[in-house]
Amino acid sequence: MSPPENKISPLKNPITSLWGVGAERAAQLARLEIFTIEDLLLHRPKRYEDRRHFRKISELTKDEPFTARGKIVALGLKRFRGGNKSVFEIILDDGLARLHCRWWNLPFMENYFAMGDEVFVFGKLKETKPRTMDHPETEVIEGGEESFIHINRIAPVYPLTEGLPQRWLRGLIWRTLEKFVAAPRQSAADFPEWSKFDARIAALCRDAATLPSRANAVRMIHFPEELTDVEIARRRLALDEFVELQIQIRSRRKKFEALSKALSCGGDNRLMKPFLAALGFKLTESQTKVLREIRHDMNGQHPMRRLLQGDVGSGKTAVAACSALMAIESGFNVALMAPTEILAEQHYRNFAKWFETLGVKVFLQTGSRKTASDEWRVASDKQTAISSLVTRHLSLTIGTHALITSGFDLPKLGLVIIDEQHKFGVAQREQLVRKGNYPHLLVMTATPIPRTLGLTLYGDLDVSTIEEMPAGRGKIKTFVRTTDKLPKVIEFIRENISGGRQAYVVYPRVEDSGAKELKAVTVEFETLKKLLAPFRVGLLHGRLNGAEKENVMAGFRANKIHVLLSTSLIEVGVDVPNATIMLIENAESFGLAQLHQLRGRIGRGAHESFCILISDAKNAEARDRLKILEETNDGFKIAEADLKLRGPGELLGHEQSGLAKFRFGNLAEDLDLIRKAQEIAREISTAVEHELNGKTCAWNYCERD
Ligand code: ADP
Ligand code: MG
Repeated sequence: MSPPENKISPLKNPITSLWGVGAERAAQLARLEIFTIEDLLLHRPKRYEDRRHFRKISELTKDEPFTARGKIVALGLKRFRGGNKSVFEIILDDGLARLHCRWWNLPFMENYFAMGDEVFVFGKLKETKPRTMDHPETEVIEGGEESFIHINRIAPVYPLTEGLPQRWLRGLIWRTLEKFVAAPRQSAADFPEWSKFDARIAALCRDAATLPSRANAVRMIHFPEELTDVEIARRRLALDEFVELQIQIRSRRKKFEALSKALSCGGDNRLMKPFLAALGFKLTESQTKVLREIRHDMNGQHPMRRLLQGDVGSGKTAVAACSALMAIESGFNVALMAPTEILAEQHYRNFAKWFETLGVKVFLQTGSRKTASDEWRVASDKQTAISSLVTRHLSLTIGTHALITSGFDLPKLGLVIIDEQHKFGVAQREQLVRKGNYPHLLVMTATPIPRTLGLTLYGDLDVSTIEEMPAGRGKIKTFVRTTDKLPKVIEFIRENISGGRQAYVVYPRVEDSGAKELKAVTVEFETLKKLLAPFRVGLLHGRLNGAEKENVMAGFRANKIHVLLSTSLIEVGVDVPNATIMLIENAESFGLAQLHQLRGRIGRGAHESFCILISDAKNAEARDRLKILEETNDGFKIAEADLKLRGPGELLGHEQSGLAKFRFGNLAEDLDLIRKAQEIAREISTAVEHELNGKTCAWNYCERD
């Protein structure tokens, strides 16, 4: 008996194989990304209407949308302003009261209604005298055989696209369910890809009894008996999505491990010892623990794939340095990639200071500066020049993404470190790693990644976390203030500068903004200079070239510039411990995680630090969001809050590609399911391996065991 998986499932058939779906409808459905029967069955309702109970028209309110029904007793289209503007109106009567429904400038609405039609209407009142709704959702009630699909039940309301009627789509989904998923038990056997996880889930989930089979869940998500069924079904379908993803992640990882053999990079401490002795501080226990994990990986069979998480200021750079030394001690070169030139320069300065006394060469390779290139540029054969450079000295090469794009090739690359990983896309990460012969990979991030995201986005990486901060840090106090308090804030900054400290002022402009926005920063710069005279203010933004940026940073580091006005360019990595004030204007326009990163630029020395968030945001939600920062310094709590409020895309930044899309899964809520999915995926993969190991059981059989 061949495993049923080999059968081509009817669910994969194109949507046009359904009765009543022609080219025009198929084109409309395609706009909703519905191409196959399965896509149709997984089209998720955006809401539900309980059409067993209605509000009387007289009970409708201005506050909350409800469903009512009534008969059209009048209708008409009025045009005005020479026919450019229009309003179409129908009046519904439910026997007790009347409701006016209006559509502005949508004259074609006229085609959808006729006198005497019975209509469902969903919305809230715009006016009460007379009762009026603007642009409500409506559906004409039709009699006939199929009317039971639409009335006297909880009816799904789907996302639509122009020209596609709600009622038609609901009917199509109903009939498709009838045809393919009629008797849940039986059809589950018909569609192995649907029943695939049923048995595992039953075996592994404590709440299995409450989780329906996949086929049942699909029925329930469209036509629930009770509204509470919807969440039960959603959880089941979400679980399947997470299992699917976890299986993919596992198999990617397995493939990678089969392909690659690790370079032995654990080191022998001969450089590490003098390095730590000269460092000037003792590593925290967290840093030491993480280094043990890294060393274990770099001595392992497979190349390391590790994510190092640590809140801003937790000391990831020192960990990176130690890891680099392990590889260098083992006779390999190391590359370190940072997302901005400023950060690459800063790393270059630190690492050069630390490493050159140990006899390790440090090179810098950014768009505007290439310390390795003097010998390189004059050489006719670049590859040989570089090779001779790096073979003569063991080396660390630091760069921006120019490291990938410049065609720069490093011989004997043993370890790749990526700082502020979330600023790079997954693809870039892969590109750099492919440069060598499967070097070890350490990616570092200060964006605390909520575990749900970590497990989905970085599921193929092992994770180490630095949990504690180095001792002796000054406290950071955070305040949210309105613009009218600015004079006081400026006075406060002046006092602190007089006391020898420094400040950042951040202006919310994106790095590559247009000329107009550049002007805004420049204007702000002039104002600030006047306000703070005679103290010196420096300006930093993405339009400056590398040397200009470095000039400003050098001035700030040397305390020749007292206040640094910047765009969010300084968000990542910058480390000037004497800076104790962070003033952020229009704070509401930043994400929470980003504000936390910016705040991480202060509180790096022993002095008390102050973060002042200026915002005139009127809406309560924006103000509550900023309050979270006043209340906690814990990056993980902040990231969780940001994820709930703004979703994963916002939290990770748009640079982050490779984020899986879920129809049913909710990354802010479903941590328990994601964990469960990991477990199930592990079990399933093990079962599949058994099968590959020559055991006769195809895993469908295994499942039934
Ligand atoms: P991040 O994790 O944000 O990259 P950094 O590596 O820039 O943090 O470290 C922040 C500051 O803390 C640096 O000035 C660094 O020298 C210092 N630091 C790192 N580890 C320790 C430690 N164990 N004890 C004291 N200071 C430390
Ligand atoms: Mg850092």
